[in-house]
Amino acid sequence: MSKCFVCTCEDVTIEDVRHAIAKGYRDIESVKRYTGFGTGVCQGKNCLGTVARILAEEGGIAEKAMLPFTPRPPARMISLGELATLPLDVVGDVPGHGVPPPVEPFEQVAPDGFPTHDSHPLKPEGKLPARASVVIVGGGIMGLALAWNLARRGQKDVLVLEEGYLCSGASGRNGGGVRMQWSTPTMVRLAKRSIDLCKSFAREFGINVWFRQGGYLFLAPDEVQAQRLEKNAALHNSLGVPTRMLTPGGAKEVVPQLDGGRFIAAAFNPEDGVVFPWPFLWGYAQGARKLGVRIETFTKLTGIDTAGGRVTSVQTDRGPVQCDVLVNAAGAWSPGIARLAGVELPNEPHRHEICATEPLKPWLGPLVSVLGNGLYFSQSMRGEIVGGMGDPNEPPGLEMGSTLRYLARYSRALIDCIPQTRDLKVIRQWAGCYDVTPDNNPILGETPELPNFLQLNGFVGHGFMMAPAVAELMATWMTGGVKDEIFDRFTLRRFAEGNVVAEDFIIG
Ligand SMILES: Cc1cc2nc3c(=O)[nH]c(=O)nc-3n(C[C@H](O)[C@H](O)[C@H](O)COP(=O)(O)OP(=O)(O)OC[C@H]3O[C@@H](n4cnc5c(N)ncnc54)[C@H](O)[C@@H]3O)c2cc1C
Repeated sequence: MSKCFVCTCEDVTIEDVRHAIAKGYRDIESVKRYTGFGTGVCQGKNCLGTVARILAEEGGIAEKAMLPFTPRPPARMISLGELATLPLDVVGDVPGHGVPPPVEPFEQVAPDGFPTHDSHPLKPEGKLPARASVVIVGGGIMGLALAWNLARRGQKDVLVLEEGYLCSGASGRNGGGVRMQWSTPTMVRLAKRSIDLCKSFAREFGINVWFRQGGYLFLAPDEVQAQRLEKNAALHNSLGVPTRMLTPGGAKEVVPQLDGGRFIAAAFNPEDGVVFPWPFLWGYAQGARKLGVRIETFTKLTGIDTAGGRVTSVQTDRGPVQCDVLVNAAGAWSPGIARLAGVELPNEPHRHEICATEPLKPWLGPLVSVLGNGLYFSQSMRGEIVGGMGDPNEPPGLEMGSTLRYLARYSRALIDCIPQTRDLKVIRQWAGCYDVTPDNNPILGETPELPNFLQLNGFVGHGFMMAPAVAELMATWMTGGVKDEIFDRFTLRRFAEGNVVAEDFIIG
């Protein structure tokens, strides 16, 4: 079958655009978000007009009502080498607020093609059910994976509430890394299971998640970090994970372009990998819907009603819903959700920034991470170098703007690691929030004062890779099966009881 491409940078076909319109995406920004057109090297110059024409002809949208998206300045693409020359005193020591939050897509489109101000164009118009056995707040990877796992085990009376679109939270903004290299047996076990599930995902859900096991290569710049890697490798080997320690020369056999003078040892597990997060979410959502789960996007939970030490119903901006169980899978927003029920969670949101470069032919096998400075990067199946870097000065907050400061820091670190990346140009950058707990472990299971209010949050920078395994265990327990030890170990109670063992192998 032949394909007619609208956006050749990102392989978006005319059928993809038609599909988006048929699903109700009726403004140019939403079609862009849904299909990814215009996000590649040409930044929409070659395809924007065509998409606008299709929207006009097939979506019935007046052309004059379509405001084209425009790349934010600087309009010219800048190389990592140029960005790395920005002096840090110009960029500032303390992260700023970045660009303003993204402009919301058009409000409801009126018959004349112009937006009205009543509602979001993608807001569902039907009624919410009056009750559901299980209500899940948050349509990220956690909420959707749980919903599908519940339905698969017979609990189909499930309602997922998502305030935005399905990839709007951290699950649509992450690096897609899945690794078994952790510092505690529990995390290794969960990650191993998730990687097994990644392998069968495409077959199970009929959707390509671009899963590639190129390994994770951790680089240690000094003796302390090298010892950490060695200790971890011994743990991994004892659990059947084939992590091996490498000399700088050995690491350069895996990635010849590395600057070998920058590190003294490395650890490599060839079974770690990377996925493309979006189809992962869509796969779970589609699978759950097929089994009867209701997933309501653009629907916000606004209140929680309790009586007799239990949650009885939730309030939403589309009316109330009674429930037997409420699950808080709202990621970085979970403390706010919990507070609606009078529950305090210790999680804090922390912005993490990330960017993608222009595509190159495949040359980088593993995801590479440098211990100490928090740099990580991999090559996507589209050829882009996608990478991020944490910032120790980043204050907590639900901030998702992008900063020049990040680009400058990231560019320096990446060029230090692989000098040839100097001439690569950045084509897009974005940010999301880590949902950080005091011990870097998630908060799972019952809330002490409200046992039918279940927590499924606090996944810091590794929730994507934990979701397949954790959701499976949680659904098993919720449907009457075995309660895994993680639901006691990672209970909210541990903070009050002082029973906290921190996970320290965090990237970013
Ligand atoms: C830059 C970056 C890189 C990362 N890299 C990796 C990685 O390589 N590997 C990995 O495993 N993890 C990574 N992570 C972490 C991972 O993305 C998260 O741990 C994971 O996506 C969390 O999923 P979630 O479903 O808990 O939260 P989210 O995906 O954030 O979903 C929560 C949802 O709740 C919704 N919500 C909030 N309030 C309400 C309300 N009142 N009503 C209804 N809905 C509401 C939000 O809109 C949101 O969609 C990264 C994160 C970031 C930011």
